[in-house]
Amino acid sequence: MYNLDNFTLSDLHNEYGGLDVVENCPHCSVSISPILISHHKFYDEAMNLLMHTLVLQCNRNKCSRIYLADIWLQAEFPSNDVVVIDHLILPKVNVVFNDPKIAEISPEFISIYNESLKAESMGLLKICGCGYRKAIEFLVKDYIISSNKENEDFDINDIKKSTRVIKLIEKYFEDPILISVAKKLFWLGNDETHYERKWESKDIKDMKNLIEVFLYKIKMDLSIQKYNNEMGI
Ligand SMILES: [Zn+2]
Repeated sequence: MYNLDNFTLSDLHNEYGGLDVVENCPHCSVSISPILISHHKFYDEAMNLLMHTLVLQCNRNKCSRIYLADIWLQAEFPSNDVVVIDHLILPKVNVVFNDPKIAEISPEFISIYNESLKAESMGLLKICGCGYRKAIEFLVKDYIISSNKENEDFDINDIKKSTRVIKLIEKYFEDPILISVAKKLFWLGNDETHYERKWESKDIKDMKNLIEVFLYKIKMDLSIQKYNNEMGI
């Protein structure tokens, strides 16, 4: 990065003209006067273009988030005043999921799920799905382990080693709603790791919605069990 050397946004306006897009914060979607933190000019070999990257900060106190803007002049236009701007949002690192009841059953689920949320917030959409799929497997297995810890015939290693999670769901879950949600989750999860998608109209958002439903159901069942045990009626 160059030092700013008194280079300001008005200089950029003079250099390019029409920098309005830079003044719409991609985080809070408000029209702002961004603070120019730094900037860097470079030649992009792949695009065969001179590019200019700006590091900008939203000047609203309530937002004050950082974003990047890549600027380049469109080569096919003879006049050098046609500006193309692409916004790049820096990753949000504050997306954190936590739930003490779920953490008691599966701390690994919490950890993998949070890594996946982070990957998603960084725009790594092609790999965060695999993370969610892995998180679901830990949650399903840990929930089976926690529900069967007092069962003497239960072999914990069978669950840990099993690669057939659908079979585990069918064998160990009794509640038809839980079985149905867990299976749907797993099928969508597999779509994130396989070459071809089976459920083309469904995406990561659907998978996260189903994870939420699954978590609600587990938590509801745990509360019901707790009061059944305590009150015996
Ligand atoms: Zn903002």
